[in-house]
Amino acid sequence: MESSVNVAGTISAAEAANTRWEAIVVGTGPAGSIAARELARLGVQVLMIDKSQFPRSKVCGCCLNGSALAALDAVGLGELSKRLGAEPLSKVRLAVNGSFANLSLPSGVALSREVLDAELIRAAVSAGVHFLPGVAVRRDMASRTLRCRAEDQSSFELNCGVVVVASGLSGGSPTDVETDSTSRIGAGAVLATAPVDYQAGTIFMAVGRGGYVGLVRIEDGRLDAAAAFDSAFVKASGGLGAAAVDVLRQAGLPSVVGMETATWRGTPALTRSARRLCGDGWFAVGDAAGYVEPFTGEGMAWAIASGAAVAPIARNAIHGWSELLASEWAEVHRRLITSRQRICRGAAAVLRSPTLSRIAVSALSFAPSLASPIIHALNRPRTLG
Ligand SMILES: Cc1cc2nc3c(=O)[nH]c(=O)nc-3n(C[C@H](O)[C@H](O)[C@H](O)COP(=O)(O)OP(=O)(O)OC[C@H]3O[C@@H](n4cnc5c(N)ncnc54)[C@H](O)[C@@H]3O)c2cc1C
Repeated sequence: MESSVNVAGTISAAEAANTRWEAIVVGTGPAGSIAARELARLGVQVLMIDKSQFPRSKVCGCCLNGSALAALDAVGLGELSKRLGAEPLSKVRLAVNGSFANLSLPSGVALSREVLDAELIRAAVSAGVHFLPGVAVRRDMASRTLRCRAEDQSSFELNCGVVVVASGLSGGSPTDVETDSTSRIGAGAVLATAPVDYQAGTIFMAVGRGGYVGLVRIEDGRLDAAAAFDSAFVKASGGLGAAAVDVLRQAGLPSVVGMETATWRGTPALTRSARRLCGDGWFAVGDAAGYVEPFTGEGMAWAIASGAAVAPIARNAIHGWSELLASEWAEVHRRLITSRQRICRGAAAVLRSPTLSRIAVSALSFAPSLASPIIHALNRPRTLG
């Protein structure tokens, strides 16, 4: 498949360093690639860089909900998930302590991050963006001069009029991030085989003491596992894989051979907020601008929507900074993203309490329609209206 092929850079580090760019986007996850593409479509000369080579995997539940699909559609990429063979989703099966609730989903697809992120980079390059992979920004991203290091350990500087920081959770964002001290950590693995009980089209959510695990078949039939755990629970279980096995057992979902020994990767603390979303010459988008726990699977919708929304504001910052631009981005971000994160925070709070989560799943097993308002709110397109 085209998307498993390496996504080549379009420019050398030396050439990039010899150019003064109008805009540089740091990080080419969904937020960065969409921001770069939208800037290019506005006529801006853009370089996007990432410390990784692509395709690369990422800890993620890999579910694009209705809101994420609408955000892709709004920037003219509505056909992308179908073209890439994404697995359509119709159901969530919630499991807590041996009780189950089956909830219908109005929309959504499962697509691996290897395939999605590589394709979004290609879409940005097709719009005229230059791409430099394998280059990490060291330390301060809140600067029009970025100090970078390439994979061969050579160092160089890049210069630009405006920086869009889209470096995710672990990217050393300049946004003075405040981490919630009770926050869970994320974890993920992809399993080549899984029991037939885990059929395609359903998101399986196992909730237990110490965390939750989401399982879904992605486009090539592999099973994506994504989890949020208390750090102490991971330690007591003896590792991320063992913690996942324990949560499936507590919840009453079938065990998966190889779950414990799979290659698990962890993330830093998930729940965080940025004290500043932008400053003189820089804007933060996606996870770099703040994140909450992933139970409701909304992060990519936030990333795509904020990547698209920042472009016209960032373009206006290229030739001069004004505090009006800062207020504008703070207001757009609040209306588009922060207000939507409240639902996620509420769900995370319910899941922390064994009693509340048991009550919730019992109620939903008898009356799944009780979840409809939340499910519809999460899948609704985001607008600034
Ligand atoms: C366990 C878990 C499950 C999740 N499940 C879902 C789900 O099912 N659905 C959903 O919508 N969301 C989900 N999310 C959230 C989703 O993964 C993120 O919100 C989304 O990836 C954010 O996109 P982004 O572009 O902001 O950052 P990322 O996708 O993290 O991209 C950031 C990029 O920046 C690069 N980078 C970092 N530092 C540097 C540097 N110094 N220099 C250069 N490049 C750098 C990285 O290599 C990376 O490619 C989940 C998250 C977790 C942790």
